[in-house]
Amino acid sequence: LFDTAAIQKLDSAHYLHPFTDFKQLNENGARVMVRGEGIYLWDSQGKKVLDGMSGLWCVNVGYGRTSISEAVYRQMETLPFYNSFFNTTNVPAVQLATKLAEIAPPGFQHVFFTGSGSEGNDTNLRMVRRYWDLMGYQERHTIISRHNAYHGSTVAGASLGGMDGMHAQGGLPIPGIVHIGQPNYLEAGQGMTEDEFGLKAASWLEDKILEVGADKVAAFIGEPVQGAGGVIIPPATYWPEIQRICDKYGILLIADEVICGFGRLGKWFASELFGIRPDLITFAKGVTSGYVPLGGVLVGDRVAKVLIEKGGDFNHGFTYSGHPVACAAALENIRIIEAEQLVQRVDEDTGPYLKQRFATLGDHPLVGYTSSCGFVAGLNLVRSKGATVHENVAFDEALSVGMVCRGYMFNNGMIMRAVGDRMIIAPPLVMTRAQIDEMVALIRHCLDLTYEDIKQ
Ligand code: PLP
Repeated sequence: LFDTAAIQKLDSAHYLHPFTDFKQLNENGARVMVRGEGIYLWDSQGKKVLDGMSGLWCVNVGYGRTSISEAVYRQMETLPFYNSFFNTTNVPAVQLATKLAEIAPPGFQHVFFTGSGSEGNDTNLRMVRRYWDLMGYQERHTIISRHNAYHGSTVAGASLGGMDGMHAQGGLPIPGIVHIGQPNYLEAGQGMTEDEFGLKAASWLEDKILEVGADKVAAFIGEPVQGAGGVIIPPATYWPEIQRICDKYGILLIADEVICGFGRLGKWFASELFGIRPDLITFAKGVTSGYVPLGGVLVGDRVAKVLIEKGGDFNHGFTYSGHPVACAAALENIRIIEAEQLVQRVDEDTGPYLKQRFATLGDHPLVGYTSSCGFVAGLNLVRSKGATVHENVAFDEALSVGMVCRGYMFNNGMIMRAVGDRMIIAPPLVMTRAQIDEMVALIRHCLDLTYEDIKQ
C-alpha cells in the first residue's frame, strides 16, 4: 500500500517537524499515519493503534466524520475564502460567532477568530494591552503566567508559556511577561493538604502582583488544567483564590482553554467547572476537532465594551481570521457534539467511568500517583512507592522510563504521551465505556512490559 521506507526517506530529506529531534528522527524514521476511524489510527504498515491523545488533544469527535468533510466540501464549493478585514464578513463566521456566544459562559457575546491557539494567545497579549491603553493606563502591560504552562509556539505564545526548553531558544520570554510557580501538588505540596497547597500556590500570584506593582499588571493567564505540562490538575481551592486575587487588583483573567474547552472536562468550557470568571478565553483544537485549523479568543463584555466603544481600529488580525471553511467545519463539529451529547456524557457518564477505571492502575508497582479530570488523565511512573505521594522515589532521569513506556505503548497499539515520567492521555470524547476498558487493559499490559524491562 505505502512504501514506508520511501516516505521516511523523503520525510527526513525535506520535512523539519515541530518539537522533534531531527537527528533522532533521521536515524529512526518517522511513524507514518495514514488513516483514522473513531478512536483508532492506522499507520502505513497497517498497524492499528488506539489514539489515547486525540491527535494533539484535539480530535474530540473522533476520526472519520464524513459530515464534517461534507460541510467543508460544500463551503469550499460555495466560497472557499474571503477575509473579514475592512468591514466584510462571511456567513459561516457569523453563524459560528453566534453559536460560540450561545455555548460560552455568561458574559461572552464576542469572538475574535485566529488560525490557531498560539495566535489566540498573541491576540490576548495585544488585546489586554489595548484594553488598558484605552482605559488610560499605558503602564499596565505586564502579564503574569506560570512555569510549565504551555500557551503556544509563536514568540508571544512561547513567552507566555513557562517551558524552560522553549525559553532557552530564541531569547524568550519577551519583556513584560513574568512567571509564578504552577499548582503542582506533587512538586511543591509536601507537608500540606491539597486544599492548603491550592491556596499557597494562588498566593504566589498576589506576591508577584505586589512585586511588579499592581498598577503595572494587565492580566493573569492560565490553563484551567495544564495539559502539555503533564495534566496538572489544580486543587479545588486554587482557581477561586486566583479569581479573588484578580478581582481584588482589577486584573484581567485569561483562561487558556485550547485543550480544556469543547467538552474535554465535561463542560463546554472548563472555567465553569473550576469557578473561574475569565475576561478572555483562548480556544482552538476541539472547536473543529482538529479537522481544519481554527482558533480564537472569546472576548468577555468588560473588554469588548471598551474595544468597541472607545476603540477605533484594533490593528490586529490574520488572513485566516474567520476563514469560512474552518468556520463551517466548526459548526458541524459543534452540531455533532450537541447531537451526541458528548459534553454531558463526559460529565455524567464516561468521565466518571474513566476516572474510576484509570485509578485502578494505581495498584501497579510502577505507578505512584494517578489523577484525572473529565477526559484527561495521567499517572506517574516511580521506582518505589512511599507512604505518601511525596515519599515516592523517582527514577533516575537518564533512564527515560517515560519514553521506554511510550515505546511499549505504541508497539502494542496504544498512544500515550510521556512528560518526563508522567504518562498522560486525552482520548476522543466519543470513547465508550467498553473502549475505556480496552484502553485501561492495554495501558496495564504495557506497564507490565515496562516493569519487566526496567527491573533488569
Ligand atoms: N494553549 C494551549 C493550552 C495549548 O495546549 C496549545 C497547544 O497545544 C496552544 C495554546 C497552542 O495552540 P496551537 O498549537 O494551535 O497554536
